[in-house]
Amino acid sequence: MIKKVAIIGAGLGGLAVAIALHRKGIDAQVYEKARFLRAVGAGLSIVPNGLNSLEAIAPGIVESLKQAGSQTRMLTLKKSTGEIIGQQAVNLMEKYGQPMLQIRWSCLQEILAAALPTENIHLNYRCIGFEQNDKGVEVYFDGSKKVEAELLIGADGLNSAVRQTMIGDGKPDYAGRISWRAVLQYSHEMLHPHEVMSMTAPDGKIFGFFDLGGGYIMWSAAALSPDKPMNQSADDVKSCVQEKFTDWAEPVQAIIEATNAEDIVERPICDRPPLSEWSRGRVTLLGDAAHPMVPLLGQGANTAFEDAWELSQCLCHTPSLTAALASYEQSRKPRTQIIQIRNAVQAKRAYKDDSEIYLRGMMEKALVGDREFEQWLYSYNPSLVA
Ligand SMILES: Cc1cc2nc3c(=O)[nH]c(=O)nc-3n(C[C@H](O)[C@H](O)[C@H](O)COP(=O)(O)OP(=O)(O)OC[C@H]3O[C@@H](n4cnc5c(N)ncnc54)[C@H](O)[C@@H]3O)c2cc1C
Repeated sequence: MIKKVAIIGAGLGGLAVAIALHRKGIDAQVYEKARFLRAVGAGLSIVPNGLNSLEAIAPGIVESLKQAGSQTRMLTLKKSTGEIIGQQAVNLMEKYGQPMLQIRWSCLQEILAAALPTENIHLNYRCIGFEQNDKGVEVYFDGSKKVEAELLIGADGLNSAVRQTMIGDGKPDYAGRISWRAVLQYSHEMLHPHEVMSMTAPDGKIFGFFDLGGGYIMWSAAALSPDKPMNQSADDVKSCVQEKFTDWAEPVQAIIEATNAEDIVERPICDRPPLSEWSRGRVTLLGDAAHPMVPLLGQGANTAFEDAWELSQCLCHTPSLTAALASYEQSRKPRTQIIQIRNAVQAKRAYKDDSEIYLRGMMEKALVGDREFEQWLYSYNPSLVA
């Protein structure tokens, strides 16, 4: 079994795989370019397949996550005018034994980081490349820093430097939409505990509200845009969102107004086509570095948790590193490819002129498109496949 692993990126996938390996007695060191651990998104949904993976990695962790977040029990879809299009009870807990959990990114990241010794997370390490031979891999960082390991895991996200050194397939594809998200402590008579409310307009704009528990709300908005956003000041970003959603029914304007401009995260939505090869020699990829997807089905982090569990299993139960990485790819590629493609296709439909009709249809057909797909997606459970 390998003894020393370098992981690039202390995002959700990087921390999850580090915990999994650390608990199996492997020296897993995480290298993160940021100077401090920061929430790169506002909040997110973790669903049964992701929660089952985290529970397999660190038994008991899901209970901490549940206490820090909010379990969604109701989805409401409205027109931008405020008229209700449809409502659907969420009963994932009854069907799959785990809920749909909304949680602040910072809480999730803190809970994951707390499951690792602090000395295993190295901040201010921006990876710029690596070299490998049959004995090991040497990883290079800004400032002439370097480390050696037996295995390198690129968990460095959408613009992965590890992927670029390994494959060199350039920048991700812009999907023609921009998203804005923010978390704030906020209450409004139209926003209810345990509810996710989405509003949609025929021009492809969407504005969602997510109860995150503890008095926190996340809002998440998206709009079609032929161009990626240029660097703007925080105040410009806030004005831009206010202008785009100016004639929308409450509580849209009220919540934007109540949000600190600095707390709004603006992101172009990007993905890449499925990748045929995730590993070379002693280097492999995980999470967005391997299979970035547009966020329609909220599966990016959830599938990164699945990757983390399966990679740790393969490394511990397969005799050679080559065989372990081959087995990891073999088990992960087909599943993540289906989810990547399904996300891309459904997102294109959801943002078209008839989005109100399409989204209502999707909701009626049980949240993600059709029941068979939902069951396949959410019933992933490592304790059953291990
Ligand atoms: C609008 C939006 C909403 C989303 N909602 C959901 C949701 O509800 N549910 C869900 O499951 N997913 C969601 N996602 C997707 C999810 O955010 C990602 O799939 C997930 O964060 C991927 O985790 P990761 O660890 O692979 O990458 P990241 O979380 O991006 O982490 C990568 C880490 O690597 C670091 N890094 C990058 N380059 C380097 C380098 N050169 N050297 C060292 N460190 C580096 C970064 O600083 C970062 O900490 C959403 C995405 C968007 C854009």
